[in-house]
Amino acid sequence: MFHQASHDGRRLVEGLLCQNGESLDWIDDLRQLQAKYLEKSPQRAQRDCSAGCPACCMTAQVDATPIEAIAVSEYLRNYLDTDDLFNVKNRLTRVTKLRIAQINAQAPQRPLACGLLGLDGKCSIYPVRPIICSGVFSLNQNECAKAEREAQAGDFSQSIPLDQEAIQATGGISGTLQRVLVEHGLDGNLYELSSAVLAALQVPDCLEHYLNKEDIFQNAICTDPHSPPRKRIVPKPKFLNRRASRPA
Ligand code: SF4
Ligand code: SF4
Repeated sequence: MFHQASHDGRRLVEGLLCQNGESLDWIDDLRQLQAKYLEKSPQRAQRDCSAGCPACCMTAQVDATPIEAIAVSEYLRNYLDTDDLFNVKNRLTRVTKLRIAQINAQAPQRPLACGLLGLDGKCSIYPVRPIICSGVFSLNQNECAKAEREAQAGDFSQSIPLDQEAIQATGGISGTLQRVLVEHGLDGNLYELSSAVLAALQVPDCLEHYLNKEDIFQNAICTDPHSPPRKRIVPKPKFLNRRASRPA
């Protein structure tokens, strides 16, 4: 599944880069491709997820590519009124500050709820949630609840039985998305979702600026700095390439 999903993902992302579409089109197309693979998983019938079951959103740190964060920011701009947008920005700011304090060991290592989890326990951006959110399925809701309780008490060691085929396909699509963005000179790093959406919300017409290779996410928390602009690729010094030829 991983390789086929990667292969199809590459074709899709290359096409999207040529089309000059909206970020919401990107997420729609990626989601459609992902759904095709999620349907094929042999563990599909054993999935135990349901709407309003928020243990995963209360504990897991979600990482997203710039494109996914921009799509969420566009959705929030388009569909929230001024007051609700203000409240979401406050929540994202609070989660980001806590996350930074945890990284700097200035706050206890406790799970933080996703900044986009609604007060009703449901995802407030469900149609445009990152593909990792739509690709993880637990096979046991009770295990999720138990893992959340343990994590709140500081024990992160609990494992949850997951639909592995769905994860493979999702990993293939996400990995390809990152790779193709990087190949086109774009930021393809992974960022913690709340901080990345907050960064995207600061920039009107964010997708256009992003595709112009502006560094929109410099203040977001980069969780996997694998390429520019987060990781500078330092060329290997030439002398390291020379064959060692020392006199005896
Ligand atoms: S992953 Fe777990 S907590 Fe999240 S919706 Fe599925 S069963 Fe519920
Ligand atoms: S984006 Fe939505 S689905 Fe994903 S962790 Fe946040 S609240 Fe949950």
